[in-house]
Amino acid sequence: MKAYHAPGRVNLIGEHTDYNDGFVLPIAIELGCTVRASAVKAPELRLSSRQYSDTRTVRLDELAALKPARHWSDYPLGVARELLALGLKLKGMALEIDATVPTGSGLSSSAALEVASALALLDGRPLDKIELARLCQRAERNFVGMPCGIMDQYASVFGEAGAAMLLDCRAQTHERVPLPEGVSIVVVNSMVKHELGSSAYRERVAQCQEALSHFPGKQALRDVTLGELERAASSIPEIPLARARHNVLENWRVRQFHAAAAAGDLARMGQLFVESHRSLRDDYEVSCEELDFLVATALTLPGVHGARMTGGGFGGCTVNLVDRGSEEAFAKEMRARYQARYQLDPAVIVTTPAAGAHAIRKAAG
Ligand code: ADP
Ligand code: MG
Repeated sequence: MKAYHAPGRVNLIGEHTDYNDGFVLPIAIELGCTVRASAVKAPELRLSSRQYSDTRTVRLDELAALKPARHWSDYPLGVARELLALGLKLKGMALEIDATVPTGSGLSSSAALEVASALALLDGRPLDKIELARLCQRAERNFVGMPCGIMDQYASVFGEAGAAMLLDCRAQTHERVPLPEGVSIVVVNSMVKHELGSSAYRERVAQCQEALSHFPGKQALRDVTLGELERAASSIPEIPLARARHNVLENWRVRQFHAAAAAGDLARMGQLFVESHRSLRDDYEVSCEELDFLVATALTLPGVHGARMTGGGFGGCTVNLVDRGSEEAFAKEMRARYQARYQLDPAVIVTTPAAGAHAIRKAAG
């Protein structure tokens, strides 16, 4: 039996910019996904998860022609198919999945599952870290059918204890970003997930492409400057224009946040969080009532520098910059106020940057 762990992530800033070749600034977190792998005699993959009661078994010779089943097993099976496409041979295996990262909450349980599954299926065979991240992204795009960027898989693979990362999604390289002493990253889970989520995500990807078509010669929204956007504004329909505006300004905010973090300027970091949230709410239209309530509430509490929704939106989590020492009072107050308003108990998670995916155990069997 061998076991592999891959972390989830919290994106600090740079939302919905990764699939436009832009900049993002996530941390990998301690919560993640563990896959325990054991060899089986039969030439098949046996998949089970502590979080889901239904299991799935697929023969290795069925994999290449397999169709997605809209089932959680699509993630590890998509990964298996991409490994086959690289020319790697797979053996009969049972994969037992267990995650501490909540699913569907914007903390990227899906990338954690993909990356941990890939390590399990590789079974010790080497694969470049960047190739591992790209392979898992392809699994999600090609088999699960989610046109995602590289951020989640990259953060899960390259996470580093003690630092956030400024990731250039075009170059697919990152710079370590140590965070100022004295601040905690606190995640608040709204415990809601509105149905719109995945269809709205695809729609946003399409709207960004539509906006881009107004900039001949540009490869991605990442290449559009604010001046160019302003000059073209009158000829772009309102919705794609707003999506493009979010992207151009969000990329700028990521760089500003990077500089503010280097300068230890918590007030500025917090202000950028708030501006990012407003842009996601008003220009990108991916927030929801519960997330807006959590952000507005957080900003009234002592020791809070900033708050914003994180992840794809339509529910999921907010991320908050909170003074060290104020976390407990913050959590208590957030829970009380959210419960009073929505009759839901929001999970409050204090996180620190954690290491990327790795093997965790080697034992006989
Ligand atoms: P997020 O990545 O933000 O958590 P997604 O919708 O991208 O949300 O991915 C969530 C999906 O990933 C789940 O619906 C499930 O299909 C799959 N998944 C994540 N974690 C697990 C797990 N522990 N066991 C089985 N499937 C999982
Ligand atoms: Mg996901």
